[in-house]
Amino acid sequence: MKLPQELEIRLANVSNLPSPSRVAMAIVDLAQDPDLNLTTVAGFINKDPALATKILRTANSALFAQRRRSDNLRKALIVLGLDATLTLALSFSLVSGFRKQQVAGINLSLYWRNCLLSATAARVTGEVLGRTDTEDLFLAGLLQDIGVLAIDRCEPGFYGATTPDNYDHDGLCDFEREKIGADHAEVGSWLMQRWKMPERLVTAVEHSHLHEPHDDPFNACVAISGAIAGFCLAPDNEGGTTKLAKLFSTTTCAPSEKLGEVLMELSEQTPDIEALYESDIMDGSQAETILEQARELMMMRNLQALRSAEVRTEELEEENRRDTLTGAFNRSHMMKILEQEFKASIENGWPLTVAFIDIDKFKQINDTHGHLAGDRLLIAIANGLKDNLRDSDIVTRYGGDEFVLIMPGTDTEMATAAGSRITPRIASIKHDLGDGLELSVSISMGLASLDRDSRFESLEELLAAADSAVYSVKQAGRNNFASWNTLNAEGLLVGAPQRNYHESETADA
Ligand code: GH3
Ligand code: MG
Repeated sequence: MKLPQELEIRLANVSNLPSPSRVAMAIVDLAQDPDLNLTTVAGFINKDPALATKILRTANSALFAQRRRSDNLRKALIVLGLDATLTLALSFSLVSGFRKQQVAGINLSLYWRNCLLSATAARVTGEVLGRTDTEDLFLAGLLQDIGVLAIDRCEPGFYGATTPDNYDHDGLCDFEREKIGADHAEVGSWLMQRWKMPERLVTAVEHSHLHEPHDDPFNACVAISGAIAGFCLAPDNEGGTTKLAKLFSTTTCAPSEKLGEVLMELSEQTPDIEALYESDIMDGSQAETILEQARELMMMRNLQALRSAEVRTEELEEENRRDTLTGAFNRSHMMKILEQEFKASIENGWPLTVAFIDIDKFKQINDTHGHLAGDRLLIAIANGLKDNLRDSDIVTRYGGDEFVLIMPGTDTEMATAAGSRITPRIASIKHDLGDGLELSVSISMGLASLDRDSRFESLEELLAAADSAVYSVKQAGRNNFASWNTLNAEGLLVGAPQRNYHESETADA
């Protein structure tokens, strides 16, 4: 990390810059040993009984939910792993060393609460996002504001009454950059580099104020941890949840609902961290507020999950209602609609018309132009029917080349008008079936209406009537419509004129 030259010289000349204890320095050295083994690490930590106790307590804490208690350091090291043990040891040594530092212009107790809370937040965020290097995250989170102590040493009185407080971290950074040309994240990473701290921790601290998507998810966990800590400690964090959730998803690229899990886990782990580091982090009411907000976020997530499951179910149900070729409602859904409409008509005295439609000489089209052209024609006819009906009418595919129209509120007279409008219109459409093939096709339509003049006892009777009407149209030469009411006693069509469009034009197409 390069600082402005003047600042670097000034910092380098400060005799009492924060520096790690001898033990901490030795741990940093030890961690770089490629032949590191359990015995060496255990031997090293055992030399410092206070540190050994803390490591043992950590291994037995809920932070490392183990079923078996570790009653000696060796077992604890196995539970924690070598790297994590060293990182933990470093965190403990740094905290106990820096706690004793004298500071001029900052509220040290608040500063340490913030550091420990940031560290825990970084750890927990990593955990929730499925990372395993959570102790490294803790340490990086812990050290991200170490630059504040260095600046305070370099310029006693730099932080004072006029400084934006710790709750306004971005404001604080702007203030630092304006006054000394670098913010405390930059100063901190410079300092950590001098301590020969691992490069990834130095980089994470350097980028800890970057609230934009991070290339490295490790850095992202550290970058969001400061904001989470600030949110938890801010006395009036009402309404800040939404802002933090947004920042969380921007920085970590994880869904914002994950913040609920982070806050929940954070309030669970904080008491253990408080015990291990022998400091208070959050007071009871702060912890309660965080827990409440975590619950709200979790609930939101559950609601969202519920909503998307509902949407999916609806989509599936919709798919199940549709005929896959034409997109019209399928036969089973047609029956459901008809049952409802028939019942409503009987109960309320409303008219209802059912129209059976069968494409004329459709087989010929399949035989002449192939099934694909036939399929395209079925789709075109379904669309042609939809285009020529009222919004309240429903087009369904009964099967094969047969369609059923459901026309609620339509009596015999209106149905006859619809039939005389739709039949010639469909026959007049030139369908583009691809590969240069254009053709027209006629339909036969049989109508049956439930109204004052014609009472049907059941839906089956109504459907059978429409079916016999279409049959009589076929008998009479196709390309026409007939209403069941106009059939004579023998079921034959009376009155309506006949056209034979199909044979004269379509067959030649
Ligand atoms: P009619 O005027 O008497 O109705 O003569 P038609 O040739 O249309 O006879 P019918 O209605 O009995 O024949 C329907 C044909 O529709 C038979 C079948 O091969 C064809 N068919 C059924 N389902 C499909 C389909 O999904 N795609 C295609 N391309 N053809 C189908
Ligand atoms: Mg047919």
